[in-house]
Amino acid sequence: FCPVTGTEQQPDGTWIVRTEKGDIATQWVVNAAGLWGREVAALAGIRLPLQPTEHQYFVTETIAEIAGMDRRLPSVADRDGEYYLRQEGKGLLVGAYERDLRFWAEEGTPQGFGHELFADDLERIEENMMRAIDRVPVVGTAGIKRVINGPMIWSPDASALFGPVPELTGYFCCSGIIPGFSQNGGLGKLAAEWMVEGEPTLDLFGWDLARYGHWAGKAFTRARVADQYAHRFKIHFPGEERDAGRPVRTRPVHAMQKDLGAVFGLNYGWEHPLYFDADTPDTAGFTRQPWWDSVGREATQLRGAAGIIDISNFAKYRVAGSGAETWLNAIFANNMPKSVGRSCLTPLIGKRGGIAGDFTVTRLAEDEFWVVGSGMAERFHQRFFRAVPLADDTTFESLTEAVAGFNVAGPRSRDLLARLTNADLSNEAFAFMRSRRITVAGIDVVAIRVSFTGELGWELHAAEADQTALYTALLDAGKEFDAGPVGSRALMSLRVEKGYGSWGRDYSPEYWPHESGLAGLIKPEKDFLNKDAWLVIRDKPAREIMSFLEIETEDADALGGEPVFLPDGTPAGQVSSGAYGYTVGKSLAIAYLKAGVAGPGDRVSVAILGRPHAARVLDHPVFDPKGHRLRDRQPEPV
Ligand SMILES: Cc1cc2nc3c(=O)[nH]c(=O)nc-3n(C[C@H](O)[C@H](O)[C@H](O)COP(=O)(O)OP(=O)(O)OC[C@H]3O[C@@H](n4cnc5c(N)ncnc54)[C@H](O)[C@@H]3O)c2cc1C
Repeated sequence: FCPVTGTEQQPDGTWIVRTEKGDIATQWVVNAAGLWGREVAALAGIRLPLQPTEHQYFVTETIAEIAGMDRRLPSVADRDGEYYLRQEGKGLLVGAYERDLRFWAEEGTPQGFGHELFADDLERIEENMMRAIDRVPVVGTAGIKRVINGPMIWSPDASALFGPVPELTGYFCCSGIIPGFSQNGGLGKLAAEWMVEGEPTLDLFGWDLARYGHWAGKAFTRARVADQYAHRFKIHFPGEERDAGRPVRTRPVHAMQKDLGAVFGLNYGWEHPLYFDADTPDTAGFTRQPWWDSVGREATQLRGAAGIIDISNFAKYRVAGSGAETWLNAIFANNMPKSVGRSCLTPLIGKRGGIAGDFTVTRLAEDEFWVVGSGMAERFHQRFFRAVPLADDTTFESLTEAVAGFNVAGPRSRDLLARLTNADLSNEAFAFMRSRRITVAGIDVVAIRVSFTGELGWELHAAEADQTALYTALLDAGKEFDAGPVGSRALMSLRVEKGYGSWGRDYSPEYWPHESGLAGLIKPEKDFLNKDAWLVIRDKPAREIMSFLEIETEDADALGGEPVFLPDGTPAGQVSSGAYGYTVGKSLAIAYLKAGVAGPGDRVSVAILGRPHAARVLDHPVFDPKGHRLRDRQPEPV
């Protein structure tokens, strides 16, 4: 064994890997050091949120019934009992994920550790074993031949920490891999694709190490790992929020939101309001839960009057300097706003021509732009922003932590804001997709007139120190108009009604812009990041097309991932996101349907909870397809 003792990045971006037997010059360093992933990462100054635990299984003596069988038994994982068993020789192998777990090597994996086993401690897994014996009595009577107690290394969500480290060039992690025998072949292939071709063929965000930022520290990692370990086989419900390790990132209004009844979810570490009705706890399930009505009240309130949505979790960036416009144009596929006070929506194109992100870019001054994008993808997007060098006098900075924000939306949002600002918010003075620095309740904000709800509204971004004062003023002024706080679950419903896609669900590197309805935002006459890749796929026929569905369902809505079939049972695609549309009284979904198999007006079937549900393909989103509401224009007379 010749350990790596150092990894040093060179000025040209390549690496020198130091070993006792000499140095290796390389373009890529791949950290696949398993239990030593943290120590090897530290050689390059990287901290990985990983924590090893002990894990035990035992193998029984020969079991006569198994010895007498002419077939092998299947592997079994008991989702309530937290044990697994499979045939091993003529006996059984039984392992457990116990509540009373033991962390191992909290301060680092010893260099000399040689995969020795730890002392058995079967008492610790007794509870799980009793459940196994209850289900399979022979486990209790067969003698134990040998016990294995060894270490495994976990990430906070038990998935791999995979991919290039966004802040470095040429450093790839394959870390935190728990079922290594079963996953490593596939991960090896995807790692090769990523390093050689620049991007994997699958959307790997769920395993991308960029899903964790600096906020995922030691205490958070330990708490999440303990929770994951003890619930290894538990059925996790859609949208389920787990408490372990929280809160880890809060804003000044957190306590105030709690007083308002906020029930929080975790969003890239932030505590983020899901809905405001603490009397109705956040139960998780596949069917509509009691909070379904609470969310409905918020959605209806926003469409009927106005709502105040905390959008502090969005990622915000400031690009300033004489090269700002050129740099942004070199990154994004749309033309950047040419005049001050204008905003644009733009896709970011991936290495294979798919959608790597969608952003709002606002020109606040001749040489100052603000960019707003997905909060959970902030670190993921660093890889793209680092791909184009900045001019000497141009700066790029993340404002995500320093700036907090609210979206004030709904037909009365202008009236509400007029109580707090002297700025002219009329259509003439402040049109849709315009932006300006204004003062609201005496607080300096960047106001951007955009909409993710389909309603008239403004995003207001202010210094984090002003967040409480701004929130207080908005809520107070809102009382007169019956406006109130609105959480992210209502926002999800409203944007599905309006047919707006969301990154990570409806937009991903796996989808091409012309499959997602974003092709119109790409400007072929200019250069942008990964344009070559986009040119390759631009004229290829769409494989799947983003479509809108109305589903007949009583008590469970599509949430994402449900398969869609033609009436004769032929697979037709899958739901990318879904929600009940409270203000239109319909269960809705955004789905990708195979091109040519189903179009507007066609009947399809969506498998919700494994059962077919009749659905219809719509020719446009159900809510205000022409955008009269967000532009605050009267519809033309019919
Ligand atoms: C009790 C138990 C049961 C398990 N059961 C299963 C199972 O049924 N199915 C399954 O899929 N998985 C199972 N696993 C998990 C599986 O063993 C691991 O996921 C897998 O070994 C991880 O592979 P890896 O290559 O990522 O890391 P490792 O196998 O740990 O390899 C890391 C390598 O990096 C080397 N290294 C470390 N530091 C340095 C350095 N500085 N320089 C150079 N080299 C270095 C090490 O020597 C080692 O060879 C089990 C694990 C345990 C403990």
